Amino acid sequence: MIAREIESLHKELEGTGAELVAVSKFHPIEALKEAYGAGQRLFGESRVQEMLAKIPAMPDDVKWHFIGHLQTNKVRQLMGRTAMIESVDSEHLLECIDRESVRAGVLTRVLMQVHVAMEETKFGFSPGELLDYFGRRGFESLKATHICGVMGMASNTDDVERVKEDFRRIRATYDEIRELCPDLRGFNCVSMGMSGDWKVAVDKGSTLVRVGTRIFGPRQY
Ligand SMILES: *Cc1c(COP(=O)(O)O)cnc(C)c1O
Repeated sequence: MIAREIESLHKELEGTGAELVAVSKFHPIEALKEAYGAGQRLFGESRVQEMLAKIPAMPDDVKWHFIGHLQTNKVRQLMGRTAMIESVDSEHLLECIDRESVRAGVLTRVLMQVHVAMEETKFGFSPGELLDYFGRRGFESLKATHICGVMGMASNTDDVERVKEDFRRIRATYDEIRELCPDLRGFNCVSMGMSGDWKVAVDKGSTLVRVGTRIFGPRQY
């Protein structure tokens, strides 16, 4: 089951420019190993303790993306363990990541989470806040953190037009940042799209899709 879904997603994403993050949160290590066996190397986790427990149980060539809300008091534990923190949702968190990266002597790659969905509970910067941050070149004070792009979610709705519009806005925010700061290096990731909407996201210019349920089935919370 898992292997078949991985293989079919890899095939469907071929030539689109988008890469698959297999979101394995709440799933046992056997499930991750099956995905690994089918060629998947990039995994997404949303809880620090769970990710730290899974890392030593998987081969060394796995890359881990942290995709959940991150509390500053847990940042230190992630240093040097993750290929990317996709879910930077405040300047306070970004500064903490930078401080801890310096302290640990590592470079941390991150995405800025942009909030466009209609749900109020979701974390992230508004497009305006992000443009403000890049407009005043806030990133120039970072010493050991590399901002590689943006991450976002569409509204949780059956209204496909709304979903399209959300992804269009996420991508537009990314494009505006690039225009604002053409000298930004390695700013090339747009992480958007999940099990139910990844095709729409790819169509709107996603470079990283984060798919969990379609691969691993429903999560047992
Ligand atoms: C859980 C999660 C996903 C995966 O969602 P599915 O609907 O299971 O594919 C993607 N992105 C984030 C940020 C998540 O927390």
